Amino acid sequence: MLHYIAGMKIVILGGVAAGAKAAAKARRLLPDAQIDIYTDDTHVSYSGCGLPYYVEGNFEDYEMLLVRSPEEFEAQGIHVHLQHRAVKIIPESRQVLIFDMIKRNSFLIEYDKLIIATGASAVIPPIQNVNLPNVFTLRKIEDGIAVKEKALQSKNAVIVGGGYIGIELLEALVKQNLNVTLLEYSPTIMAIFDDDMSKLILEQLRQHSDGRYKVLTSETISEFSGDMNGVRAVRTASGLDIPCDFVILCTGAKPNSEIALDAGIALGISNSIKVNARMETSVPDIYACGDCAEKTLVISRAKIWTPLGSVANKEGRCAAMNACGFEDEFPGVLASAVTRCLGLTMSMTGLTEKYAKQQGFNPVSATVTKYDKVGYMPDVNNITLKLVADVDSGRLLGAQAVGVGDADKRVNIFASALLGRLTVEDFLAHDLTYAPPFSPTIDPLLNAAQILASKIKKANQV
Ligand SMILES: Cc1cc2nc3c(=O)[nH]c(=O)nc-3n(C[C@H](O)[C@H](O)[C@H](O)COP(=O)(O)OP(=O)(O)OC[C@H]3O[C@@H](n4cnc5c(N)ncnc54)[C@H](O)[C@@H]3O)c2cc1C
Repeated sequence: MLHYIAGMKIVILGGVAAGAKAAAKARRLLPDAQIDIYTDDTHVSYSGCGLPYYVEGNFEDYEMLLVRSPEEFEAQGIHVHLQHRAVKIIPESRQVLIFDMIKRNSFLIEYDKLIIATGASAVIPPIQNVNLPNVFTLRKIEDGIAVKEKALQSKNAVIVGGGYIGIELLEALVKQNLNVTLLEYSPTIMAIFDDDMSKLILEQLRQHSDGRYKVLTSETISEFSGDMNGVRAVRTASGLDIPCDFVILCTGAKPNSEIALDAGIALGISNSIKVNARMETSVPDIYACGDCAEKTLVISRAKIWTPLGSVANKEGRCAAMNACGFEDEFPGVLASAVTRCLGLTMSMTGLTEKYAKQQGFNPVSATVTKYDKVGYMPDVNNITLKLVADVDSGRLLGAQAVGVGDADKRVNIFASALLGRLTVEDFLAHDLTYAPPFSPTIDPLLNAAQILASKIKKANQV
């Protein structure tokens, strides 16, 4: 049922992926609504995901990352207020206190519907001298500009953290001809994968190094040393002293949810804002979407926090639909993700084996390393695929793929199977395409699924 308010005031806090998408969708749905985006940022509607590729030098002008300018929004009747921070939400009077960061004054605005899309911030670990100049994080456009500027004048860089952003930056800085050291405190990098797959990623990246980069694991940083001119070295607890011109901290992100907590809005896992499938928070007429909001895993309905641009856009659309009085439900996430580092593709969807166990499943897995195309093709490469399923129900739970070859397309096929709640036996019936430049006669996905089916059969015979 449509609950329509003529000239409705829709206020959106934050305007990168989720907020910008919500504004654009709301405008299409309600041509006469008053739509305002308030953001503390200097830019609106941009691709944060593209920042490592800007640093790498794939394109010179950072403006290529900007999707829609404030002027373009204005032409659609969407008012963008840059450098305006929301400091307090007052649900009782449907107001938000805004701080104008340029004029340095505060004022109250009113809303009929409020969409919180405040995203996430980089986590700054409590390391001695972490505030020295030239210790960067990468989240916003100005971070990207500062990192690239510094990279172009430097020889040695240290990256702290071996997750998605850390390894994307490894490639970017190596391609900018820097000597790079990546430091990771756990025994392996890309810890979001199962340990066997993370180890494979680490081995392959180390093998690929021609001495210009090092990936060091189990290294805890004890301090950054330097002076007012900037960081000069990174010291580790194991006694390493690594000289550097700059450091990039890639040590995770946290949801920007303090403003919601302060307004009495319920928080969920990892302090993200609790939402239902309509993106409604615990307070009427207030919605949340994107990196600030909690997610539900499609496979197990467990609550997770996984900050992804693909999801932020879809949730922004869903929040706008419901805020504008239409009906829409977001089905949840599979946490599908992909990245690349120096020719190696890493991709995953659904549950890893270790996470499936934690979620109460009885998982079994099959791992294969195969050619991604027919062996006589000139660009043939290996991929390693790991599939996970539940022994008791036969249901598919997740896939991980690592390789120089086409890894992501296999994971994308699997993501559809997960959404369809297919069992391993269902999956084996897939009629996948074949021609020598694209895959072997039997795709590695089906090889792995066949092994998985045999393992499940065997486990159920015991
Ligand atoms: C380097 C990098 C690479 C990435 N690569 C990928 C990728 O390849 N694939 C992928 O799916 N995802 C990727 N991501 C994640 C993706 O960028 C985020 O999931 C996406 O930007 C989330 O969008 P959002 O609108 O929810 O939040 P954000 O992008 O965090 O935007 C929130 C905005 O709200 C503003 N804000 C915060 N608090 C307030 C307040 N109180 N008042 C007003 N404004 C406020 C912030 O300043 C910010 O501008 C990457 C992220 C980074 C940093």
